[in-house]
Amino acid sequence: MDFNLSEQQKMLQRMAGEFADDAVKPQAAEIDSKSRFPFDLAKELGKRGYQGLPYPAQCGGSGAGYLSYVLVLEQLCQASMTVGAVMAINTVPEEAIFRFGNEEQKKALLAPLAKGEMLGSIAFTEAETGSDPRAITTTSQKSGDGYAVTGQKQFVALAPAANLALVFAKSEGKGLNAFVIDTSSPGYNLREPCETMGLKGLGASVVYLDEVKVPQENLLGEEGQGFKILLEAISLGRLGVAVEAVAVAQAALDISIDYAKQRKTAGRPIARLPAVQWHLAEMASRIEAGRLLVYRTAFIRDQGLDIKYESSVAKLFVSQMAVEVTRRAMQVCGSYGTMTSMPVERLYRDAKMTEVYVGISEIQRNIIAEHLI
Ligand SMILES: Cc1cc2nc3c(=O)[nH]c(=O)nc-3n(C[C@H](O)[C@H](O)[C@H](O)COP(=O)(O)OP(=O)(O)OC[C@H]3O[C@@H](n4cnc5c(N)ncnc54)[C@H](O)[C@@H]3O)c2cc1C
Repeated sequence: MDFNLSEQQKMLQRMAGEFADDAVKPQAAEIDSKSRFPFDLAKELGKRGYQGLPYPAQCGGSGAGYLSYVLVLEQLCQASMTVGAVMAINTVPEEAIFRFGNEEQKKALLAPLAKGEMLGSIAFTEAETGSDPRAITTTSQKSGDGYAVTGQKQFVALAPAANLALVFAKSEGKGLNAFVIDTSSPGYNLREPCETMGLKGLGASVVYLDEVKVPQENLLGEEGQGFKILLEAISLGRLGVAVEAVAVAQAALDISIDYAKQRKTAGRPIARLPAVQWHLAEMASRIEAGRLLVYRTAFIRDQGLDIKYESSVAKLFVSQMAVEVTRRAMQVCGSYGTMTSMPVERLYRDAKMTEVYVGISEIQRNIIAEHLI
């Protein structure tokens, strides 16, 4: 792996950092406190070409690659994990269409997502399961020259803004089907977004599917191939969450350093106390290790290789790291860290979400162990 970023990657990173500081950071506290979906910023991400970084020009993207995607996402998530997650989640249906779609589907469904003209969501989780595809009860039945999809999906992020949804439903034969569904279809209905402790404003909503008519051309891959499609697309989703975790941890470290230099005890900055220095050193070393795991996973994807194992390793390690690093940041910032008007407690809440969504840590351990043995 080449540890030097190209000039193009450095430029993308710098520009994303400036955009994050100027446009995203000022909105981060309000997005969180009001659980407000960032419609304006979601559009802006598209206009800036951030939704199509990994995909080639003929699919509506810029062909900048997965590492470029990671570099941009990291900058956005340091300002607001919710805003970055809008980009990361949109990539999951994109990746599914890119890997399994035919040429027409890439043109009709992937290109508008990659160009930022549309937003995509993923609907896998149901009330009774988020980890076990066998427990999915949403059905897809042959109807006319397409399918009728019926069921209920839980925690569908981006739902208030998404134009397309990658929906997993039981096939009439064996396994799951994966459909790209137009969310304006009759029978596709949303309920109010769920209130979660972190990642507020991501619009994770309950979606009802009541005999939604889906044309044959919106079936992705073959009948019953849904689980394979899910595994492939979700591995990029896991990489996205791992980036979110690194970014949140870095933001917590930056705040802790500033605070430790300013806050005084016995007339000296607390940054001079070994106890505080050790917190900062532990935080920094874990972040460095986590970032390398994440960059390496993106590098491997850029070689066209499978990242199911690497993305699970990265997500498991980095999400736990982010929880630990933000906990230490809370400690360094003392009572001020606990104030809801300060960003550290938001970072702490957001960090916890990375251990849970897009596959709980227990599932990552199962995937890793399966690979090992
Ligand atoms: C903010 C947010 C956004 C989300 N966005 C989306 C989205 O866009 N699309 C979507 O489909 N879903 C989404 N989800 C759902 C999320 O991905 C699932 O909730 C998550 O994968 C966990 O599923 P679960 O809650 O059903 O946990 P369960 O599968 O019920 O697991 C509960 C607990 O049981 C244990 N457990 C379960 N299975 C195993 C196992 N095999 N081995 C060991 N232990 C196990 C673990 O301790 C686990 O934490 C989102 C969730 C949140 C909170």
